[in-house]
Amino acid sequence: MELEICLLPGDGIGPEVVREGVKVLKAVAQKFGHTLKLEEAFIGGAAIDKYGEPLPAETLKKCKECKAILLGAVGGPKWDNNPPELRPEKGLLAIRKELGLFANLRPVKLIPQLQESSVLRKDIVEKGIDLLVVRELTGGIYFGTPKGIFEEQGQLVGINTMRYTEAEVERIVRLAFELALKRKKKLTSVDKANVLEVSRLWRQVVEKVKVDYPEVEVEHLYVDNAAMQLVSRPYSFDVLVTGNLFGDILSDEAGVITGSLGTLPSASLGKEFGLYEPIHGSAPDIAGQDMANPIATIMSVAMLLEYSFNLSEEAGAIYRAVEQTLGFGYRTKDILRPGLKKVSCSQMGDFIAMQV
Ligand code: NAD
Repeated sequence: MELEICLLPGDGIGPEVVREGVKVLKAVAQKFGHTLKLEEAFIGGAAIDKYGEPLPAETLKKCKECKAILLGAVGGPKWDNNPPELRPEKGLLAIRKELGLFANLRPVKLIPQLQESSVLRKDIVEKGIDLLVVRELTGGIYFGTPKGIFEEQGQLVGINTMRYTEAEVERIVRLAFELALKRKKKLTSVDKANVLEVSRLWRQVVEKVKVDYPEVEVEHLYVDNAAMQLVSRPYSFDVLVTGNLFGDILSDEAGVITGSLGTLPSASLGKEFGLYEPIHGSAPDIAGQDMANPIATIMSVAMLLEYSFNLSEEAGAIYRAVEQTLGFGYRTKDILRPGLKKVSCSQMGDFIAMQV
């Protein structure tokens, strides 16, 4: 199979971790007999420096020519004082919108070899954590209007609008049901229906769609309760579906349950395209030192193969290679524990590629 993928390394440690992701991708392609057609383009600060904008037209064009995109990270102190339109993060929001990436998937799975990295008590972690947060990504309060800071009766007022149409909710909820069907068949929908009308509509749509998925067990949780339950009984969740704002917060909370930022992948899916990236940022404090953990990006490559190309076996080979490498005791600095072997970013990539 020919795999056309656009690489967007971005800023900071982005290029370092994407390089390792590609190393593993090439190993998988060779083992399973696929050909790779890789494009590369600029995004974020790197694009601002070269083209004067965070998402240049050329980048968007290259992305649209591929089905899947692998992104590193964007941002850094160099651009922190830029005006809003010229900030690296604007490139990320724009690409999600342009490619119609309405669903953000964050698997939160405890890698047995990294159990000691979890912030939770051992007796909770030992029950096993394997959940998937599905966050709506192109609607809700981050995009609703009116928004802005206005003057009203002599004082400033800040306004954002949480707005969802029935169709937007149905689209993400159906995807979550489909994903639950392929997993443990349990769906938790998170809202704030006791206070917000927009959440009451959300819940209504979940109840409507549920009729089409009788095999899936459905639970509704208010977001404040969900935040508590995630840390007290993470083992009882399967798929969690929620809106943009709640998903932003809960997916970070769920992420630290299993360990380092450096090990958490993500996928953003739309009808036509998939964009895959580690959940961490550009880590300017360690950039250029070959010490970043590339596992989150390497697992994002696994998600890319699974979701954009339906290559589950190939994805499985990557997950196993990661576990084996960790099983040998190799650790980048962020997950290093006494008695284990410290390796650089590129060495970690080499070891994982060798195990594929
Ligand atoms: P960050 O995720 O970049 O870093 C937080 C901490 O985690 C740092 O100490 C960093 O060294 C460490 N870390 C992150 N990834 C790591 C890895 N792979 N291996 C080892 N250690 C790792 O978050 P931040 O410091 O808040 O933000 C830095 C920049 O990244 C900012 O400009 C921010 O806007 C941007 N950012 C971008 C994204 C993205 O591109 N999706 C996400 C978050 C932050």
